[in-house]
Amino acid sequence: MSHVSRLRTFALMNWIEKDRKYIWHPFTPQKERLDPIFIERGKGSLLYDSEGHAYIDAVSSWWVTLHGHAHPYIAEKLYQQALELEQVIFAGFTHKPAIELAERLVTLLPQNFTRIFYSDNGSTSTEVSLKMAIQYWWNQAYENGVHKGIKRNKIIAFKNSYHGDTFGAMSVSDRGVFTMAFHDLLFEVLFIDTPEKDNIKQTKALLEEYGHEVAAFIYEPLVQGAGGMKMYDAALLDELLGIMQETGIICIADEVMTGFGRTGKLFASEHMQHKPDIICLSKGLTGGTMALGVTACSDKIYNAYVNDDKLKTFFHGHSFTANPLACTAAIASLDLVKQNNVIEKIEWLTAQHQLFAAKLAAREAKGFSVKNIRTQGTIIAFEIDKGKDEYLNNISQEITQKCMAKGVYIRPLGNAVYLMPPYCITQEELNTIYETLLSVLND
Ligand SMILES: *Cc1c(COP(=O)(O)O)cnc(C)c1O
Repeated sequence: MSHVSRLRTFALMNWIEKDRKYIWHPFTPQKERLDPIFIERGKGSLLYDSEGHAYIDAVSSWWVTLHGHAHPYIAEKLYQQALELEQVIFAGFTHKPAIELAERLVTLLPQNFTRIFYSDNGSTSTEVSLKMAIQYWWNQAYENGVHKGIKRNKIIAFKNSYHGDTFGAMSVSDRGVFTMAFHDLLFEVLFIDTPEKDNIKQTKALLEEYGHEVAAFIYEPLVQGAGGMKMYDAALLDELLGIMQETGIICIADEVMTGFGRTGKLFASEHMQHKPDIICLSKGLTGGTMALGVTACSDKIYNAYVNDDKLKTFFHGHSFTANPLACTAAIASLDLVKQNNVIEKIEWLTAQHQLFAAKLAAREAKGFSVKNIRTQGTIIAFEIDKGKDEYLNNISQEITQKCMAKGVYIRPLGNAVYLMPPYCITQEELNTIYETLLSVLND
């Protein structure tokens, strides 16, 4: 080891020791934890550690990165904006980045969306959507201090869903390992199965009994992300949305993960005829550079809040609502969606995944066997047929470590392995990911 690299290693140890001493990492068991990997810089699809090793970021750093790491175009726009205006209170004030982003989102989203409400991240975007939908009904029923008629405040959600980590978001998420300590405190939700040919009848029966009390239905369209990249059929979801909307139920599409191209179209909701009334965006919204949440709604929802009674105001906001830097990053990301022909890249990535899926299916059984190979747009997923199908399956760490040793970063959800690369990925990098995965499976 050269003198210089020994110094580097020493400096690194120092950082890792301090990390161990001061930091509590998310979704990370704290006992006998592995040292985190110290990332010094990123470029395109690559992350570089302090020893200079490069890793292909095959999961877009938790599903956020669209155009690649440390993109110079976004960086430049951020720098310029930081010199102009970094933050301002958003009640009673406004600014260009917030207005420009709202206008562009309304143009891009399905036609019925007319209003943009800003917040901080994916969890806040779903919290806002639930509050917006519940108060929509409350505003209609409340007059001069009295509440008339039946309370419409129940929520329907899918089993195995994930909508974030705050209390409302946890309440509408699957009752599983992530939420176990809090089950007694979560509000009650009517959980239904994701649609399959024969189970829509059951939902119809549920709606006949409770439909008039249900405020909203929240769903991750086509792909349940944190629940293990489970996929379901667009035509059946479309039918389900039709049934919900016939009963007047507000449909909330949680597109925090699926938004900005992941499912093969700019928004997953474009795959269905029935459009949601509310849509939640975050993750890819800023190209994966800054935290920002959006809850967009239709006029139908918004108009319930245009009222003489001040009690019918939407009393919700965050210190950093519509932060000018975050909005600027989002505008820059939308510029890049156009400039880089992202829609074409998405089509290419979709086709590549389909070829790889066929290759995986035709693979001879040696090493690990796999099951349920599936793709939806730029996402490919399958389960490793070992142990239980669950998040706590230890195979995840083993696969991550073996792939890291070969320069590819993936992070399976238990035994559910998936790829979700940034759109700047090159053919060569994609081939490296596929080959690495195959060799780790065959090992
Ligand atoms: C990640 C995610 C969230 C939560 O977003 P955060 O920014 O992590 O709070 C909500 N819904 C879905 C579908 C997600 O994938």
